[in-house]
Amino acid sequence: MSRISVVTGGTRGIGAATAIALKDRGDTVVAVYGYNEERAKVFTAETGIASYRWDVSNFDACLTGIASVEADLGPVDILINNAGITRDGTVHKMDCENWQAVIDTNLGSCFNMSRAVIGGMRERKFGRIVNVGSINGQAGQYGQVNYAAAKSGIHGFTKALAQEGAAQGITVNAIAPGYIDTDMVAAVPDRVLDKIIERIPVGRLGKASEIARAIRFLTDDDAGFITGSTLSINGGQHMY
Ligand code: NDP
Repeated sequence: MSRISVVTGGTRGIGAATAIALKDRGDTVVAVYGYNEERAKVFTAETGIASYRWDVSNFDACLTGIASVEADLGPVDILINNAGITRDGTVHKMDCENWQAVIDTNLGSCFNMSRAVIGGMRERKFGRIVNVGSINGQAGQYGQVNYAAAKSGIHGFTKALAQEGAAQGITVNAIAPGYIDTDMVAAVPDRVLDKIIERIPVGRLGKASEIARAIRFLTDDDAGFITGSTLSINGGQHMY
C-alpha cells in the first residue's frame, strides 16, 4: 500500500535523504521547507518529490499546509518532524530571539505538525511519526542551551505522544543523530569539527542516508510494535 509521507525540512540534508528513501519505498512524499526556495526547486526537479513551503514554527501555517497537502494528495499517514535550526551562543550572551526561534522551530514544530495530522491518524487507526532529536539533546553541548533544551524536549514529547497513540495504531519514535555531514555541520568551524571527529569512535561524520534508512525502518507498516523509542545513531560517540 502506498503511504503519504510528509518530511519537514525535506529539501536538504537529513530530510532530503529521508524523503528520497521513503519515495524509493513507494510512498508519495511531500518535502516541507521554510525559506530556501531555490534549493527546493532543484530538489523537486531532481527527485520528482513535491515541495511545499511553510514555517513549521507557526501553528496556523502547519494546519493550513497540511490541509492543502491532504486536498492535493489525500490523508497523511507518516510524519517526519525533521526541520531544525541552530542559533548557538552561551547563555550570558544569548538573546530571547535566538532562544525562542530554536525552541519554536525544533520543538514547537513537533506539536504544530503532529496536531495537524493526529486526528486523521486516530480516525484511520494508522500513523507513523518520527521526531529528529539530537545527541546534543541527550548529552548537552557548550553554547547550545536552546538547541539542547529543544532536542531534549523532543525525546520527552515522543514518549508521551507514543502513549497517546499506542492503542490507535500510531507509533511515535525519535532518532538522535550524532554529527552528520550536512549544511548544518558545514557551518561548524573546521578546528571545532576536527575536535568533534576525534571523539567519534568510528572516525568520521555520519551520512544523511544513514539516518534516512533508520527513519524508513521505523515507518514501515510492519514496525507497529516499535513505539516510544529513541534510536541513537552517532558512530559510538554517546551511548545512552
Ligand atoms: P539542514 O540545515 O541541512 O536543513 C534543515 C532543513 O529544515 C531545511 O530543509 C530547512 O528549510 C528546514 N527548516 C528550517 N527551519 C524551518 C522552518 N521554520 N519551517 C520549515 N522548514 C524549516 O539540517 P540537517 O539536515 O543537518 O538537520 C536535520 C535535523 O536533524 C534537524 O532537526 C537537526 O537539528 C537534526 N540534527 C542534525 C545533526 C547534524 O549533524 N546535521 C545532528 C543531530 C540532529 P530551508 O531549506 O528552507 O532553510
